[in-house]
Amino acid sequence: MPHILIVEDEAAIADTLIFALQSEGFTTTWLSLAEQALAEQQRNPADLLILDVGLPDISGFEACKRLRRFSEVPVIFLTARSEEIDRVVGLEIGADDYVVKPFSPREVAARVKAILKRMAPREAPAESPASGPFQIDSERVQIHYHGQLLSLTRHEFRLLQSLLAQPERVFSREQLLDGLGVAADVGYERTIDSHIKSLRAKLRQVAAAAEPIQTHRGLGYSYSPRHA
Ligand code: CA
Repeated sequence: MPHILIVEDEAAIADTLIFALQSEGFTTTWLSLAEQALAEQQRNPADLLILDVGLPDISGFEACKRLRRFSEVPVIFLTARSEEIDRVVGLEIGADDYVVKPFSPREVAARVKAILKRMAPREAPAESPASGPFQIDSERVQIHYHGQLLSLTRHEFRLLQSLLAQPERVFSREQLLDGLGVAADVGYERTIDSHIKSLRAKLRQVAAAAEPIQTHRGLGYSYSPRHA
C-alpha cells in the first residue's frame, strides 16, 4: 500500500484528504508542520507528499527545497492563491503537481494515483553505467561528465538520463516530459526548453566546445555521443 504524507495545518482539509485517500486504499500520515514532515520523511519515507504552501513554520516551497536535498519523493502542492501557481510550475521548486484550494479530495486522490503510476517504472532503474563521457549513478542520482560531477536539479538529472539512455534518438518535448514524470496538463512542456538550456550551460562548464545535446528544429532533442 503506498503511503501518503499529508502536510497541512488545517484539520478540516487534512480530514477530507485522509478520507479520500484511505477510500482509495492508501495509508496516510498527517502532520501540520513542515519541520516535522521533513524529519518524518527522513525517518520513515512516504511514497508521496501532499504539501500545503501556507504552513505555520516554514513555507511549503522552502520545505520542498529542503526535501529535495535528500529525497526524490513526488510532491503535490496545495495552493490557496493563484499567484502561487507561477512559482509551483516554475523550474526550481521540484513539484510534480499542484491543486488549488478549494479542491475536490477525490480529484487529489486521482492525481496521487496518476503520479504513483507514472513513477512505478522508475522504481527499478535500468542500469546504464556509462555512455561516452557520461557516468550515470541512478542510486545516488548523480551524473559525471568527463569525470566531473554535474550539479543537476532533479528535472535536469531525469532529462539527461532519458537522453543518454538512447543515443541519437530524437525525443519530442512531450516524450521528455513523460520521462520527468510530471503531468502534461500542468504546462510544463514549454519549460523543457528552459531545462535544456540550463543543462547545456552546466555541460559547457565542463567541456566548452562539446555539444552533446543536439536540437532538432520542430522535433525535439537528442544525445549525440559524437559531439560529447
Ligand atoms: Ca495552510
